[in-house]
Amino acid sequence: MATIALEIVTPDRPLVREQVDEVELPGAEGYMGVLPGHTPLLTLLQVGELWYRRGNEKTYLAVAFGFAEVLPDRVTVLAQVAERAEDIDVPRAQAALQRATARLAQNASDIDYDRARIAQQKAQTRLDVAAHARTRV
Ligand code: ATP
Repeated sequence: MATIALEIVTPDRPLVREQVDEVELPGAEGYMGVLPGHTPLLTLLQVGELWYRRGNEKTYLAVAFGFAEVLPDRVTVLAQVAERAEDIDVPRAQAALQRATARLAQNASDIDYDRARIAQQKAQTRLDVAAHARTRV
């Protein structure tokens, strides 16, 4: 069976280098699924969950920004930030979510709402990924 050579790196470290059966990532136009033989493309990454599947095991990561190159037999993800579920500090993400949510609830001219919204999305994604961890499909 054809597989995909998946590589995920951040500026800090290589995170994943595996042969996988399927990948889903938060692309510029929303979540996109990639199976072997996919049409080549480049996409920007948004904030969201990335998962890949090997057999019936799915592994989740939180990713934010960067880009992905999709080729028929290869997916390369260069993410600005990425964490595996087991590396996520849940209390830290909870605190970040609370901070961002409190900021968004304020109505003050000195608030950078886009920045707060991004912080909220990152924190929520981290909590979602930590909750998912590894699941069977
Ligand atoms: P915080 O507000 O908690 O600092 P942040 O969203 O501002 O979070 P980033 O700028 O996205 O943090 O990331 C900075 C570094 O910290 C990255 O290496 C990222 O992987 C790591 N990081 C951020 N939050 C967490 C977390 N909850 N668990 C594990 N690593 C995290």
